[in-house]
Amino acid sequence: MKRIEEELKKIKNEVLSCKKCSLYKERVENRFFPVIGEGNHQAKIMFVGEAPGLQEAKTGRPFCGAAGKILDELLESAGIKRKDVYITNILKDRPPENRDPQPEEIQACTPSLERQIEIIKPKVLCPLGRYSMNFLMEKLGLGDQIEGISKIHGKLFKTKDLFQDISIIPFYHPAVAAYNPNMKNVLKKDFSILERFK
Ligand code: URA
Repeated sequence: MKRIEEELKKIKNEVLSCKKCSLYKERVENRFFPVIGEGNHQAKIMFVGEAPGLQEAKTGRPFCGAAGKILDELLESAGIKRKDVYITNILKDRPPENRDPQPEEIQACTPSLERQIEIIKPKVLCPLGRYSMNFLMEKLGLGDQIEGISKIHGKLFKTKDLFQDISIIPFYHPAVAAYNPNMKNVLKKDFSILERFK
């Protein structure tokens, strides 16, 4: 347990001093925080969103703004407590105006995510949105099964990482439900698959 804490702290310190991409400048100029991740360090379920939004960059906490409220609702609908899961993003810093992550930013930032996965060893990885889905499926040997998220949302893919069997279940990003109640219902139905991993 102590080792897990130490390893995660190491990642935090590395992210804090990382200058590999231009998002570092954004962070410093705006007095933002990087968003490393939060939750149970021995979680069975790990959610991986896209990147911090404004609220997240102001506080250093993942999914604490509008999309976070929806995520909380989805977790509750599946009977899952937020404190039992781990939540992070593929990018740890906020892209200006919440623009899409750029390939070079994903390349620079994801070694931290890969280590978070290795340390926490979740049973199921839940990408939220297509950027995270594409990255994780590619990285975990499921590149040939990637399709549009509208086709494979809520489907379970089994694979292996270096250490163990692991499942990936891609979900739509919760923000898609902000103005669309139909999408919230789709997300709730998809999230119900997580009940078996609690
Ligand atoms: N959207 C994300 O993808 N991640 C967050 O942390 C917040 C909003």
